[in-house]
Amino acid sequence: MAEAQWDFVIIGAGTAGLTAAQYGARSCLRTLVIESELCGGQALNIFELENYPGIYPAVNGGDFIETMKKQAFDFGAKLEKRRLISIEKKNTMFHLKSDIDTITCYALLIATGATHRHLGVPGEEEFVTRGVSYCATCDGPFFRKKRVVVVGGGDSACDEANYLSSLTPMVTLIHRRDSLRAQKAVAERVLQNPNITVQFNTIVKEIRGDTKVTSILLQDTVTKEERIMETDGVFIFTGMDPQTQLVNTLPKDESGYIITDEFMQTSIPGLYCAGDIRAKPFRQLITAASDGAIAAHCAEKYIREVLNEAYK
Ligand code: NAP
Repeated sequence: MAEAQWDFVIIGAGTAGLTAAQYGARSCLRTLVIESELCGGQALNIFELENYPGIYPAVNGGDFIETMKKQAFDFGAKLEKRRLISIEKKNTMFHLKSDIDTITCYALLIATGATHRHLGVPGEEEFVTRGVSYCATCDGPFFRKKRVVVVGGGDSACDEANYLSSLTPMVTLIHRRDSLRAQKAVAERVLQNPNITVQFNTIVKEIRGDTKVTSILLQDTVTKEERIMETDGVFIFTGMDPQTQLVNTLPKDESGYIITDEFMQTSIPGLYCAGDIRAKPFRQLITAASDGAIAAHCAEKYIREVLNEAYK
């Protein structure tokens, strides 16, 4: 049997992928991480990471990723920049076709994450980490007793508005329709929460500020009237898009996340998914890291079995 170029390939250099890289390399697997953009994923959006156990005082998300990269690459993992086009499994080997070449490996981890849907309004990109956030658990504590706006009407927006209301009594939920899409119980908790004001039939047209967010431009979808609302923070929860393009034929849950078992194993032996691409109840850096460690551990066992089998 021809030898694969790599034992373990990880697609995506976010928290799940970099953790898997460290565990894979420390287990003496020839480990390659493939990333098409910047390493770091969603951690890069975190201004101060203060809830990762063992890392305290808070660090910047970018610095956290730099340490993770160093740790993984010092243990021997390699990083290559490529844009993958397709994945094919032939016998015991995965063939990864990219814009540059084709790479082979025995076990493959997809850790491409999920991206927050953006509003796409002026000021949104400009004020990310300076008042615009896609994670209330990460950034909410910086808005204690400050004015915050939550955008969206689904479970995430309602859950996060409820969470923010424990930090500040000045939460306004802005939703474009005349009723919330969230599950009834979750929506009711928002509607009855004295710390949350709900504004229906309203869209955010622009986010404004100087060094940080100071106000938003709103429009009533019925009357078309516009007005300015002062705020310190804008939390956007308009849905997530798991980055499943490379593994679109795998079974998914109703929201489009890839279904794995508790070993991060997908329906294809040797193919693992970890982090925010995976169906699971809680998406945080700590759960991404946990997924990555489990996936690497299980991939190692799988590879040893495949190689023993192959050389019998
Ligand atoms: P979601 O259910 O897709 O809701 C997105 C919300 O954002 C909708 O209310 C939508 O409005 C609004 N929206 C979308 N694009 C917008 C835009 N450009 N401008 C303004 N508003 C916009 O997403 P999610 O809340 O993140 O939930 C994703 C999945 O995870 C769901 O299946 C949800 O049930 C699940 N989830 C469950 C829980 C829980 O069980 N506690 C918690 C979080 C998430 P419209 O309503 O008008 O479409």
